[in-house]
This record gives sequence, C-alpha cells and structure tokens, in this order.
Amino acid sequence: MSRFWSPFVRDLVPYVPGEQPKMANLVKLNTNEHPYGPSPLAIAAMQAAVNDDLRLYPDPNADQLKTAIAEHFELAAQGGDKSWVFVGNGSDEVLAHAFHGLFQHDLPLLFPDVTYSFYPVYAGLYGIRHETVALNAAFEIDPADYARPNGGIIFPNPNAPTGRLLPLAAIERLLADSPDSVVLVDEAYIDFGGDSAVALVGRHPNLLVTQTLSKSRALAGLRVGFAIGQPELIEALERVKNSFNSYPLGRVAQAGAVAAIRDRGHFGAMQDMVIMQRDSLTTRLERLGFEVLPSGANFVFARHPEHAGPALTAALRERAVIVRNFRQPRIEDFLRITVGTPDQHRALIGALEEIL
Ligand code: PMP
Repeated sequence: MSRFWSPFVRDLVPYVPGEQPKMANLVKLNTNEHPYGPSPLAIAAMQAAVNDDLRLYPDPNADQLKTAIAEHFELAAQGGDKSWVFVGNGSDEVLAHAFHGLFQHDLPLLFPDVTYSFYPVYAGLYGIRHETVALNAAFEIDPADYARPNGGIIFPNPNAPTGRLLPLAAIERLLADSPDSVVLVDEAYIDFGGDSAVALVGRHPNLLVTQTLSKSRALAGLRVGFAIGQPELIEALERVKNSFNSYPLGRVAQAGAVAAIRDRGHFGAMQDMVIMQRDSLTTRLERLGFEVLPSGANFVFARHPEHAGPALTAALRERAVIVRNFRQPRIEDFLRITVGTPDQHRALIGALEEIL
C-alpha cells in the first residue's frame, strides 16, 4: 500500500500465479506446462521472423493467424470465417477482454465455486457482480444449476483444477437455458480428449469459446490465445482490444502461432503422448491409494484418504517435486499434478512411496 496508489489499485485483489521456481533438478508439475517441446515448424518460423522486419509494427489484426485458426476449425462449414476469430496475448488476455466487453452488470455472472481462480479477479477488476454455483458431489458442473437469470456464464471445460469434462450435450443444455446472455467456455485444456464447443458456435450466437497455445501446443512461453464466436461477440472483443493495445501479438508470436496451428501432425502426436501418460499416472496414483478424479486435461486432481493436501505438497517439495495445492474449502486435500514425462512420473511416485 502506498500513498501514490489510486483508490482503484488499493482495492484490487490480484491473481497469484503458480510458482515458477528457478532451481535446477526440480520435477516441476505445478503449472500444467507441456512436458515436451512445441512444433519444430513453429520454432523454425519464429527463428525466421527474427529479422530486420522487427522494426515494423506487426499486423494489428493478425489476419494470417485468424485465417489459420478458421481453417483449423473448419469454420467455413458452419458459415464462418476469420471474422469469427479473436486473438490475444494468452487466453488470459482474451478472457479479460471478454469480462470487460461481454458480461452484463445488472444480473450476476455465474461460474462454478471450484474453478479457475482468475475469474473472480477479472470480475473484481471490471466491477462485475458474480455468484458462484457449487459443483455437485462428484465435482462436476451440473447445467441445471445455471438455469436462472444471469448476466453471463463462464466455466472451463475441462474444469480447472478438477479436470472434469462436460459433454457437448450438457453445454447445449446450458446454452438453451440462457439464450439471452453470453456463455463462455474456456477450453484451455480441451485438446486432451474432449469435444470442443467450437462445433456449436454456428448455431448459438451467445457462445464464445476460448483456447490457448499454452497447453496442447506447448507454447506457454509465447503467450497466444484465441476466441471463437459469431462476429457480434468478436466485435466487442476487438473494440476492447483496440482501446487497450492494438498490437497484442508481436511478429514473432504471430509467425510461431500460425506454424503451430498448421502443424497438425506434431499436435496430434503430442496429444496422444499426454493422454497415454495421464492414464499411466492415474493408475500408479490409484495403486498408492489415491482417489483420482477422471481427467480430460493435462493434469490430474487426486487426494489420499490418509494424508492432508498441504502436508503432502510440502513433503513432495522437500523431495524437489513441485505440485499445486489449493487452500480452498472442499479441495484443500487435493493435489493438482501436471502430466509429465515418464522420468518425472518415476520421481513423483518414488517420492510418494517414501512419504506415504
Ligand atoms: N484458462 C484456464 C482454465 C487456465 O488454467 C489457464 C492457465 N493458467 C488459462 C485459461 C490461461 O492460459 P494462457 O493465458 O496461458 O492462455
């Protein structure tokens, strides 16, 4: 707190990102990064983009990237094109613009009580009234609980940090129940086995879907995310963006993102690897007595009946294994463990065998 701060900043409660420790030899399974590298074609494209053209501003509309995304999702088949796509500096920025530009203020925004902890932060930042909706006993989102007047609905699918996946039929039900407000499906983790709600945007003008290159395309360091929806919604995001930073994506990021989106081969292979490792990690944790929620993401959410979450997290840390524990009612005994490499899993399981 400082006397130089504006009243606005004095009241802000910022998001606390997952730790990024710098020590060597850590088994870092706390921030859902991809265990393997991005597309080699993306790396080559970024290297090629490091040239004298960097004296020029980038394309403020990122047209090539929007076209690549429109093609990847075959938006033409739904009557769409690149005008259905918005891009930003990570999906966090895209989400921020959606909070700013799309949710209403007269009725509460709804989101699950256990969910991505950035949502309440954005709601606070933009003065949006919100209410949380409890997950059911199986830690699932129940669409029926959202069928009430609201100024918008947002949830991740799969949800974070639970990893639980909602089928498209449930999302359609939600959309049908709230035709007059925006339903934002945050698909940061959808590529690890889920069906994307992008398939529904042509039929639902109130649906916005966000995705990121940070997880399934292993480009968390590049900061590229995007949204897909009908132009009515995209236009609101463009207005906010152009009132904030007209050039959110630099030339290098645009070049890398285009190549990453187009490299379907690498993308598919990496998805398969993570899904296989997730299944094997789940089995090994279950053998140690953990309850592991079914996960559609690149992390698992697990608790041990005899060990409290904070103590287990600390004991793993002493053994150089970093996982995430959320000090929040209902989930404080869960560990959120990012799916890693077989070597990282061996280290994790070895450490757990010592502790349990
Ligand atoms: N949504 C969810 C549910 C997430 O977990 C994350 C990653 N922390 C994001 C969005 C944002 O990811 P990024 O800004 O890297 O695209």
